[in-house]
Amino acid sequence: MTLSINAAFDSGNIRVVAIEGDRIDLEIVRDAQSDFYQWFHFRLAGARGRRLTLRILNAAGAAYPFGWPGYKVRASVDRQEWRMVETRYEGGVLSWEWDGDTELAWFAYFAPYTMEMHEALVARTALQPGFAHRELGRSLDGQAIDCLTVGTGAKPVWLYARQHPGESMVEWWMEGALEWLATPFAADLLAKVTFHIVPNMNPDGTRRGHLRTNAAGVNLNREWHAPSAERSPEVLCVRNAMDETGCVFAMDVHGDEAIAANFIAGYEGIASWTEDHGAKFYEFGRRLAAHTPDFQTELGYDKAPPGKANMSMSTNQLAERFGAVSVTLEMPFKDHAPNPDPVHGWSPERSKRLAVSCLETLSGMIDTL
Ligand code: ZN
Repeated sequence: MTLSINAAFDSGNIRVVAIEGDRIDLEIVRDAQSDFYQWFHFRLAGARGRRLTLRILNAAGAAYPFGWPGYKVRASVDRQEWRMVETRYEGGVLSWEWDGDTELAWFAYFAPYTMEMHEALVARTALQPGFAHRELGRSLDGQAIDCLTVGTGAKPVWLYARQHPGESMVEWWMEGALEWLATPFAADLLAKVTFHIVPNMNPDGTRRGHLRTNAAGVNLNREWHAPSAERSPEVLCVRNAMDETGCVFAMDVHGDEAIAANFIAGYEGIASWTEDHGAKFYEFGRRLAAHTPDFQTELGYDKAPPGKANMSMSTNQLAERFGAVSVTLEMPFKDHAPNPDPVHGWSPERSKRLAVSCLETLSGMIDTL
């Protein structure tokens, strides 16, 4: 059968350069009106009985080329289990072999979480007792910005994710968080907290197969100081809703291309920084690392110097605006090196479990917030 590559589906991204014999040469497509690219997700048909070489020729020009060394492509034949395949990064080209015994295979930067999956997550969560759903607004392409609310407590907590749509592990994290919040284990926390949860801040980028931006090529996590209906309605509607509720604790969930570990980033450098405010952020990290081998506090980003926080980023903005303990969580595309999984790497299941660990850690310190 003829080899065929296709990415014309929800969250797909790839362009065929050439198919010659058993070699398939590909390019990742840029985000619309932007230079960012790194997310890929495509289908291979006609593969049975062949040993194929797949090559992404423009890997060196991706947004984070230092993400490729040590990275392994995820592959699936059933779209349920995504395994790592041996991957090379040489001469600016990312390549791997495929000799599966199936007709079809799918390849992606990370196990995908499509808009269809998002819709199903919102549907089943909204049916759970105690959960309420509302649309906070619409994206530039007209998709809903979904928010799920649960809990009766006085303390407002915001969980939001996927400002960067290629970071698909974050919506697996959200799935884990929402499922746990629907269990009896969450009862004590829900008596103290009202959660407002936005599982996907960037539905347009998700559906379009973007790495980092919305339909207008805007990086939503550089808009929080001045979101606009023209450029970033996704941020504007969420920030307005936060202004109505206030916020004592927030988590903005991301994926990191380069660092092979889970880590958090805080709000050093905001104008209102105090040691007491910062101490609660560091305490969250310490408790989370003590709670699960899938978290650590050694590796991470450099801290901003005093007064130099980037206020266009949500974590800094919420820490300053509300005095919130505001946490950026980063999960790896590679693996959590201190506790690796040689088959799946960092994975959907582990992302879901980490969400539970985060909420259990929050439960343990909610009275201090
Ligand atoms: Zn991100």
